[in-house]
Amino acid sequence: MAKSPLLRILSYHSINDSYNFDKQIKFLRKNFSIISYYQLTVFLKNRCLPEKPLLITSDDGDKSFYDNAFPILKNHELSATLFVITNLIGTSTPFWWNEIEYYLGKNEGNKKVLEVKCWANKRREAYLEELRNTSSKPILKYDQLTPGQLREMQEAGITIANHSHTHPMFDKCTPEELEHEMSKSTIILRDLGFTPDVFAYPNGNFSPNAESILQKYGIKQAYLFDHKINKGDVNPLRISRLVVNDTTPLWKFKLILSGWHTKILPITKALGKLRK
Ligand SMILES: [Zn+2]
Repeated sequence: MAKSPLLRILSYHSINDSYNFDKQIKFLRKNFSIISYYQLTVFLKNRCLPEKPLLITSDDGDKSFYDNAFPILKNHELSATLFVITNLIGTSTPFWWNEIEYYLGKNEGNKKVLEVKCWANKRREAYLEELRNTSSKPILKYDQLTPGQLREMQEAGITIANHSHTHPMFDKCTPEELEHEMSKSTIILRDLGFTPDVFAYPNGNFSPNAESILQKYGIKQAYLFDHKINKGDVNPLRISRLVVNDTTPLWKFKLILSGWHTKILPITKALGKLRK
């Protein structure tokens, strides 16, 4: 048992490349101790974890997690944490960023998604409503995970956790909007039989104003999206995560896990600018 080990938390989104994901998981099994949310809770209390601890998380609750990642994790008897958006559970409502890409096309849509993430939440919501009402395209539909699928995963060791009610940028929300996001999502998760005490900031957008509201709704751990390995004392409401995806090749995956990726990133970005 290590006293205060480096704690790596991986953040995935959708999982479509099962072959590569399986390779990543096999590598993780060989080189790390994959822990559950509950073991992390114990660590935060007692600082007691196995060597090289690593937690797997996935944001948004895309159905591809159930279709492609869950069978692999189950096969390896591994746990993970899945952060779900509560107003989408059991619906055919798409993710709002996919709607923008659908209405505007991939390229323009991509740019617009980045732009609206910087807007006040009310403005983003009004823009989406206008897009839906003025487009000649039929309404986009997308099957989301059902309560039954979420329960099945929970029973097999996947922690179902809170990723807000509508996935707004928390740093662009008013206190009233934050309150609404947390109260709705907490009630829904509780009604479905889950324990809503873990939260991941949508898009990783941290908001200091949100912390007291998170605590009010019983959140014990909140996760960021900041490409960092947790070292030393971990603030349970500001837990760092390394961003990976299902298609990340193994050489890059290893680099990200080493922590060097974060150090190299600003240099490669600067070199990229010099080349232009
Ligand atoms: Zn998200």
